[in-house]
Parts: sequence; structure tokens; C-alpha cells
Amino acid sequence: MKLATFTNGGAAMPGVVINETTIVPLGALAPDMLTLIANWDALQGAVEAAAAARTGALDLAAVRLLAPVPRPGKILAIGLNYADHIAETGMEKPVHQIWFTKPGTAVNGPYDDIQIPRGSTMTDYEVEMVVVIGKGGRHIAKEDAAAHVFGYCVGNDVSERVWQRRTAQFTLGKAFDTHAPFGPWITTADAAGDVHELGIRCVVDGETRQDSNTQHLIFSVWDQIAELSTVMTLEPGDVIYTGTPGGVGAARKPPAMLLPGCHVRCEIDGLGAIESRCIAE
Ligand code: ZN
Repeated sequence: MKLATFTNGGAAMPGVVINETTIVPLGALAPDMLTLIANWDALQGAVEAAAAARTGALDLAAVRLLAPVPRPGKILAIGLNYADHIAETGMEKPVHQIWFTKPGTAVNGPYDDIQIPRGSTMTDYEVEMVVVIGKGGRHIAKEDAAAHVFGYCVGNDVSERVWQRRTAQFTLGKAFDTHAPFGPWITTADAAGDVHELGIRCVVDGETRQDSNTQHLIFSVWDQIAELSTVMTLEPGDVIYTGTPGGVGAARKPPAMLLPGCHVRCEIDGLGAIESRCIAE
């Protein structure tokens, strides 16, 4: 199943996306995606019934999709998690998982504009598979991790490299407003297939810049959930950016950064695509 958050001019609400052409509103069942995810066991049957009946169905192209979880409780992101990306940065393969956070204010819709920060000439793209947590928990074992995933999205971990590199912490360089687009919907875990075998690409102005496969993740999704939940309670709707493959703009020779006017498309097989235009802040 594919679940999106959308607005049809009024309040945002969740909906079921059918055939990528139709959306069935679920506002009568849950006011927002966090509520839907947190109560999924109780609501799944009613969601499936609404989808089958096409109750109140709308043309998907006529509504505006927002980030599937408009304000996650946490947005966590792992650095240096594909071998080819590590090689291009000149860094060592990490012994421990490298985590940083992106603030809720960075969340951006799947087709909304990315702001190039004032004065920035080093804003970069990073296509990533995004995990949305379903059942929360602490100390989740690697072998139990799959049961805690609600679904998967396509994300762009937009990164301002000057701010990222000028201190030992990545966080500020990853935290600008609009720099966490994801979507276009959540593909539920049961419908996503083997998520460690998905083609993943980023195309800027028609040129393919990143072209890899999630089979090359160094720390798997299950490794990541086990590590994070050792430290913190994961909660329904928490969002995890799982790392980017090689080909980022800063590592190209010469660098090929995002500037106002650029068009960025991030896509993952089976999960869809998000597309953004870059504008000056
Ligand atoms: Zn990243």
C-alpha cells in the first residue's frame, strides 16, 4: 500500500494512493499520518476497505502532496554508508555508525522547492532511501528490526558542504530549512520488496549524478535500527535517512553543486520519485 499526506485546498490529511493516479482520503479515519501509523493495527482494515471502495477518491494530479510525515518526532541520518561515497570523500570506512539529525523545520514536500541558502555555492544533493518507523521500541534486536518498520520513501539529504565541514559536527550543514524533502508517499514495508536490492538514482538537470543500489549499504536498515534503539526510543513516524551512494556534487571534478534554477530528481525503484526546483532563499 502507498500512503501519502495531501491537501486539496483545505487541511492536510492522509490518503491511500492507488495506481499512482488516484488518492482516497483517510481523514475520517485519522487526522494525520502520525495518528494513522501509531494506530495502524486497529485502522488497517478500515483503510483497506476505504481503498477498495474508492471512497471519496480524488485525482492524484489535482492534489498537493506534502511530506508523508509532515512533522516527524525525530529525523535521523547516517553518514558515510556506501563504499563508493566514502571513497570519493577520501574518508576511512567508519568502524561505528555516524549519526546526525535533521530538524523538523527542514522537512519539505516531495515536489516543493529547495532553498539555496543565502550566499551558498556549496549546496549538494544526496539521494537516500528513507525509513519510517511503525512500532516503536528500545533495544530492538537486528533480527527484530524489520517488524518495526512501517514503510519506505525516497529522500534527498540536502547538504550545505561549507557548514557541514567547518566544524566536527555535520548537523548545521544538514539542517537548513527545506533541506529534508521526502516522499512522494510511504510504500508500506509489505509492499516494498527486498529493500536491500533497490536501484537508487539522482538526476540533476537531466544528468544522472548518482546511480547505485541499496545492496551496497554498509550498515543495513536493520543494523541502523538496532544501533539507534540502543540509545533512544524509536517512535511511530520517526524518519531515518539511510545514507547516500557516490556521485555527490562536491566530489565531482569540477564540483557540480545545486544552484538556483537547478532541477533535482531522486528516485528509487518501487518507491517512486521526488522532484525539486532549486530557488534562492
Ligand atoms: Zn546523507
